[in-house]
Amino acid sequence: MCQPSLFDSAATSKHSLLPLSEYRKIIISFSGGKDSTACVLRCLDLGVRPDQLELWHQDVDGREEPFMDWPVTPAYCRAFAAAFGLPLRFQWRVGGFVREMFREQTKTAPVRFERADGTIGEAGGEGPLVTRLLWPQVAGIRNGRWCTPKLKIDVAAVALNNDPAYAEGPLLFVTGERWDESTPRSKIPAAEPHRCHTSRRRVDHWHGACDLKEADVWELIRRHRVRVHPAYYLGWGRVSCLACIFGDYNQWASVRELVPALFDRIAGYEQRFGKTIKQRLSVVNQADRGEAFAMPVELRAKALSTDYTDPILLPDGEEWVLPPGAFRRCGGPT
Ligand code: SF4
Repeated sequence: MCQPSLFDSAATSKHSLLPLSEYRKIIISFSGGKDSTACVLRCLDLGVRPDQLELWHQDVDGREEPFMDWPVTPAYCRAFAAAFGLPLRFQWRVGGFVREMFREQTKTAPVRFERADGTIGEAGGEGPLVTRLLWPQVAGIRNGRWCTPKLKIDVAAVALNNDPAYAEGPLLFVTGERWDESTPRSKIPAAEPHRCHTSRRRVDHWHGACDLKEADVWELIRRHRVRVHPAYYLGWGRVSCLACIFGDYNQWASVRELVPALFDRIAGYEQRFGKTIKQRLSVVNQADRGEAFAMPVELRAKALSTDYTDPILLPDGEEWVLPPGAFRRCGGPT
């Protein structure tokens, strides 16, 4: 098996990975976006056996009606996994984004996770009584951006620590942050012990796309002829959430045009909490300063559907086209 450049970058970090073939399971945190897609394609290029690989998707809205996220995302993730013959497991915090945001002297909700046999496990839901009634802050995780840890990172960790199928190591957990996305991300090590690592079970964390530039990501996707998430064809530069708190002015203008009822609901919550998502600028102010993307009607319907029927792998004769969202920053997590 070849160990190409990203393993060079992993080797320069303080923590060394095992050869990929030695991991019992390689779990890719798969949002449906381009960077986690790149992690999957890279693993396949590296010769990872399909029986080692699993895709995990954390549903930020739980099993409630879609709120922040794209309605099509779960169906897109299922279609992607099926196209590559890979297992896909969902995890979510009960009540999702809305329940967590409306905590009022309550504990966080438990986490549910799909097991390999199709049953649903549940764990977590402990901890202090907390009042939020507040949007996540447009800041780093340590400065009030609670959505990423509460709805993604912690959710995956609860599943990893409570599903007996993962009781034995070594395990490799892969996420798709890239060094050129932001200054804080440029400091992420290529590899480190995962937060679920213990002396009894080795769990490594590999930032599997860390050394890729955005152009490398799109080239990898083009080479594998993958049809990306519908959001990119509408003009979004990042996936996952449709209404990501990090959206720039043009993205908020696009949210308002695409899903006006959702936009009004978000604006209403800003008024109710007495605090805006972005400091000093409401989402209405932001949308007023932006210009909506050109969003063809048939593409809007695809992104807002809960079904996904297009082939993930382009059929022979269909030209792979760079989507309008490519190389658009649209804001994004730090
Ligand atoms: S995509 Fe944006 S809003 Fe959604 S969980 Fe991540 S940072 Fe929060």
